[in-house]
Amino acid sequence: MTDGSMEAWAVASAGPIDSHPLRRLRRAVPDPGPGQVRVHVRVCGVCRTDLHLAEGDLVPKHDLVVPGHEVVGIVDRHGEGSKRFADGDRVGVPWLARSCGSCRFCLNRRENLCTAPLFTGWDVDGGYAEYVIADEAFAYPLPEAFSDEEAAPLLCAGIIGFRALRRSRLPPGGRLGIYGFGGSAHLTAQVAMAEGARVHVMTRSPEARQLALELGAASVGGADDRPPEPLDSAILFAPVGTLVLPALEALERGGTLAVAGIHLSDIPPLDYQRHLFQERSLCSVTANTRHDGQEFLEAAARIPLRVSTVAYPLDQADRALADLAHDRVNGAAVLVNGND
Ligand SMILES: [Zn+2]
Ligand SMILES: [Zn+2]
Repeated sequence: MTDGSMEAWAVASAGPIDSHPLRRLRRAVPDPGPGQVRVHVRVCGVCRTDLHLAEGDLVPKHDLVVPGHEVVGIVDRHGEGSKRFADGDRVGVPWLARSCGSCRFCLNRRENLCTAPLFTGWDVDGGYAEYVIADEAFAYPLPEAFSDEEAAPLLCAGIIGFRALRRSRLPPGGRLGIYGFGGSAHLTAQVAMAEGARVHVMTRSPEARQLALELGAASVGGADDRPPEPLDSAILFAPVGTLVLPALEALERGGTLAVAGIHLSDIPPLDYQRHLFQERSLCSVTANTRHDGQEFLEAAARIPLRVSTVAYPLDQADRALADLAHDRVNGAAVLVNGND
């Protein structure tokens, strides 16, 4: 930051990732407003939501929005009244940038369902840049147990997966099916196993199946394979609507399937007897509360989670997203800002 400008990536023309929807550009380094901090980005995780945004599955909220909502960085400037963090503190900037604080959901401890939320890297510029602005009330202090690269994927992949696990209502010692095994799933599986679950992983990627076995999965199979035993709970991480059917069919009576993604391709028609009867449930997962985030980060440090990352320099964000799109990332991709 010699001339008051910084490097950033923005969604220039949403479309298939191989058509290069992101553009590298220079932006003025932003200044924090009241209650905000400026964060010098060290690492930003690459989430599938960024890919949905780049490809237009999620419509960008404004032109040239900077993606990225798994930001690990250092507080370097304070806005008026901001005093939660000190200069030099390491913080995490997550997906939920701000909730309104006054709707019925915010007032009922369900701020993830806020009717007027702002999201990092969608409504407000995110961490595919050298600096980012965050409301201090929505940033997290980060456990020291994790390096910057390890901490980044915890901030969305980890937290959303954790909420999905809770939404799947897995009973103690239960049998959990995980469909798709990328950044979020590999963290969630470890939390479930630490809590005593038997985890079965279904994924089309041989490398991901290998990682699942290394982490202690009870079995691995192809994307829509039947697990070797009925499931009390299942989580669909792959954004593939056709997988809802085999996942529901694999559930035990009374079981729950939680869909973790923000975007899902079309779900084919369900057969009531085959997919839902016997009190099987299908539910979605929408963002997370700050309480989810705190609870997850504490659990992550306590277990402690093994975070599998693949690092890319910030100037190769487009390559990281293309690799994610084409299943070439085993674990969680992260962008490292080397311009210190
Ligand atoms: Zn609200
Ligand atoms: Zn995300």
